[in-house]
Amino acid sequence: MPLLKPEDGPLLVASHNHGKIWEIRELMEPFGFEVTSAKDKGLADPEETGTTYEANAEIKAVAAMEATGLASLSDDSGLSIEALNGDPGIYSARWAGPDRDFAMAMRNVEEKLQAAGATTPDKRKATFVAVLCLARPGHEPLFFRGEVEGTIVWPPKGNKGFGYDPIFWPDGLDRTFGEMMSAEKHAWKPGQPTALSHRARAFQKFARTALGVE
Ligand code: IMP
Repeated sequence: MPLLKPEDGPLLVASHNHGKIWEIRELMEPFGFEVTSAKDKGLADPEETGTTYEANAEIKAVAAMEATGLASLSDDSGLSIEALNGDPGIYSARWAGPDRDFAMAMRNVEEKLQAAGATTPDKRKATFVAVLCLARPGHEPLFFRGEVEGTIVWPPKGNKGFGYDPIFWPDGLDRTFGEMMSAEKHAWKPGQPTALSHRARAFQKFARTALGVE
């Protein structure tokens, strides 16, 4: 018995990030759900005071659920770089500053990697992490984590995707996330064994539990 059904009402994506809303909308499409967002509803962005992806995801999902009474799905994600002791991690968005300047954030990553002597691919390992939190009225929040490993490349390559996509080269592939069509990076369809991106992998777990699909 799925936890969520299209006839129970829209699913609210608890985010103002256009890239994330777009991707989750795309991921939900095959299941027939109406998808709305914190942005569409004009909700304020709660302060992310947590120190883990899970804590920040919970803050966002619960705030949106309490404000609207709708089942709300949040995503807290980031890029953890081994040679930078996990930075920017949960601060990935903050490294881009108030103007969301990811060209600057990516330069900052490269400068720090150079300063740490991380100049060869084996020293430039990184993991994209996404934690989805589903908050439903009257229920404990549920968490779904997805990760994808790769290498940081320089200079940035490709102009698709968002955020740090142009400097992330996923293991086993020959191009960065910034060079991939969103369908290739994110899509996961029922029946497909494994999704590629961290968000799609987390979504796959969410879909199994909440939507009852394999
Ligand atoms: P937050 O979860 O809203 O705090 O921000 C997550 C940040 O991590 C985003 O603003 C991006 O900078 C970065 N990020 C998360 N997922 C991705 C992705 O799929 N591609 C590129 N950057 C990402």
